[in-house]
Amino acid sequence: MSIDACIKQSFASTSTYAPHYPQRCDEALDEALFSTQAYDAWRTLDLGPASTVFSRFAALPALTKRELRACGPQGFVPHGRDIAEGLTSHEIELVATSGATGDQVTNVWYQPWWNASEAASWQLNAHARAVATGAHREAILTSPLCAGYPCEDGYLTMEQRTLGRFLYLSERSDPSSWSNDLMDRMVNELNIFRPVVLEANPSFLARLSRHIVKRRMSVHSPTIIVLTYENPSILHRRQISRAFDAPIASSYGATEAGYVFMECEAGRLHQVTASCHVDFLPFGPEHGGPEVGRILVTIFDNPWRSLVRFDIGDVVRLDGHAPCPCGRHEGLALKSVEGRAVHLTLTPEGQTVTQGTVDHALGSVTGLVEYQILQVGPSDYHLRFVAEGVASRLVAGAACEALKAVYGAAAVITADPVEAIAPDSPGKYCLARMLESIDPHALLDDKYAPRVT
Ligand SMILES: [Zn+2]
Repeated sequence: MSIDACIKQSFASTSTYAPHYPQRCDEALDEALFSTQAYDAWRTLDLGPASTVFSRFAALPALTKRELRACGPQGFVPHGRDIAEGLTSHEIELVATSGATGDQVTNVWYQPWWNASEAASWQLNAHARAVATGAHREAILTSPLCAGYPCEDGYLTMEQRTLGRFLYLSERSDPSSWSNDLMDRMVNELNIFRPVVLEANPSFLARLSRHIVKRRMSVHSPTIIVLTYENPSILHRRQISRAFDAPIASSYGATEAGYVFMECEAGRLHQVTASCHVDFLPFGPEHGGPEVGRILVTIFDNPWRSLVRFDIGDVVRLDGHAPCPCGRHEGLALKSVEGRAVHLTLTPEGQTVTQGTVDHALGSVTGLVEYQILQVGPSDYHLRFVAEGVASRLVAGAACEALKAVYGAAAVITADPVEAIAPDSPGKYCLARMLESIDPHALLDDKYAPRVT
């Protein structure tokens, strides 16, 4: 193999950025390589200042949760800062995350950086920019294991779930077991609190929205609904829009990486270029590339955390490179986040199917309100679903037909109606997965695939 064949390409060099942006990338990369212990082994792989920063990034490996765990939080603190001192002075906290893959990571949490990242994301949506001042009233509906006050035995008062300008609507982490009284309480509290922003896990808010529509309740609509914590299903968004008269925007990020993409008022997801760089790694053409691929995130300006080329674990779809009607043009723009890499499935012929593709197919099935598909064999798929307003057998028939269009004629699909589908811990729904998940690295176009360490 020639040396040229080993040189990795950078997709980032095809995007448009502000003039100072490459310099910010350089600073983030140099801080990692020369001032942060966890990246010691990467230094010999660096192409150096004679190359563009995007080429320098492309020559490096991806950072995974495995490295985050192996080096520990201190390994990613630049410039010799000391975590113990930061904890003593209350400048930082340590926050443990248990991601959807079950890999627990301890992160240094520096609130001013998080707030700045969130504020930068609001600039990418006209509705959010108009009202999200940082002092606005905000109601939050998500698993209390992700944010808020968990209580599975008994209930907490509204006062006990209020923290400054934030109201946490639920102390219970499983919407499939919410009582009607609990959901009535949530509606009542929204009408009293009158939030400007309602931030919600989409499956949780969809559950409440179905309750509101079914009981014909009157509910206060915020100025904007921001969906986060999990990837929204088309079904979730439709159910929410039936109950609330407010624009909906999807905000995408991670505890480790802050705010990475924000949906604009025209429905595309724009990179939060003020706080992070994103490397897109296309899948090979046989797996949906080059429009579908994975992303690696590099964060800017966190004095307590140097994170470079972090594999955030999701699959995304590009927007086709057409200008967005909103006029924003900096950074990567997405048509959609397609779901987590661990939620990929395969056709009987071995072609990759994203959760987004499954969701798109099932989104048009009348009467389908919740679902989960599990691939149990090379050509065997099991669908569990919740139907409302339409006979289960009709929903099952339409859903199987929609899935056949995705997986092909050789697919064997069974469907079972259920009363409800509970989220995985700590409160995130899984819409599709295989018994044994695919190695997503093997799906990448080799020209862009990161070096394996
Ligand atoms: Zn836009």
